[in-house]
Amino acid sequence: MPELPEVETIKNTVAAAVDGAVILDVIVNQPKLRISIPADFTKRIVGARITSFKRIAKYMLINLNNGQTIIWHFGMSGKIKIESQMPTTFEKHDHLIITTDKGILIYNDPRRFGLVTLCESGKLKQHKLFKHLGPDPWDSEFNADYLIQKFKAKKVPIKIALLNQEIICGIGNIYASEILYHAQILPNRAAESINKHEAELIVKFTRQVLEEAIKAGGSTIHDYKKPDGDIGYFQQKHCVYNKTGQKCPQCRCNIAKTGGIRKIVLGGRSTFYCGTLQK
Ligand SMILES: [Zn+2]
Repeated sequence: MPELPEVETIKNTVAAAVDGAVILDVIVNQPKLRISIPADFTKRIVGARITSFKRIAKYMLINLNNGQTIIWHFGMSGKIKIESQMPTTFEKHDHLIITTDKGILIYNDPRRFGLVTLCESGKLKQHKLFKHLGPDPWDSEFNADYLIQKFKAKKVPIKIALLNQEIICGIGNIYASEILYHAQILPNRAAESINKHEAELIVKFTRQVLEEAIKAGGSTIHDYKKPDGDIGYFQQKHCVYNKTGQKCPQCRCNIAKTGGIRKIVLGGRSTFYCGTLQK
């Protein structure tokens, strides 16, 4: 599943290709995605010019000059292909094709957990997909005091709290383990036990880990491709994720004694940590 850094990478890549373009035509081969593509989708976007790109959590937003915003989510397996010419045949799972005067966007999604829909640009904050979302990692509202207040009386493990999109939006499963590793906090500690200094470290490393991943072009352990066809692998740079039994990059512990990086399951999701470094 593309995580926030991948979506940021997709957004930047698509923007580089078609920002400022005029939408000329739309083909909907399969409207039934997680939310169906609206029946009037084509009518509402053809003729409009793309004015800007934005990302909220793991959604890519395309703002148009007619007051509409395209909301795009990639689900588990969604990819955008950017073509300069219309292909002679479509591939299986090419559900949506948007032709612009600068290039053609083809949305391919085998599992169809993604979605493409429309919203009036001025009403995005009230949209059902966004109205419950917490601040983005780079919002000034996301700070240590905010976290301490949100974690108050929360007995759930800190790692599960970090995945709660109503507290902070955009941290996925891989990065939650990585952030807590850098902050040197055990993932199964109760959220309410986090002190101010630790909350500051979480804020700092949330931004740092995600920024590094964005710089590296996004990452997942799956066969995830950037829109221009490059594979956005990043797994070799993870410190703990999927590294069970290995030595973590920062400590000199004897893994024959400690067993190295450990894996536990929290809330049904794989979680990795160093039992020596993280407290
Ligand atoms: Zn270690």
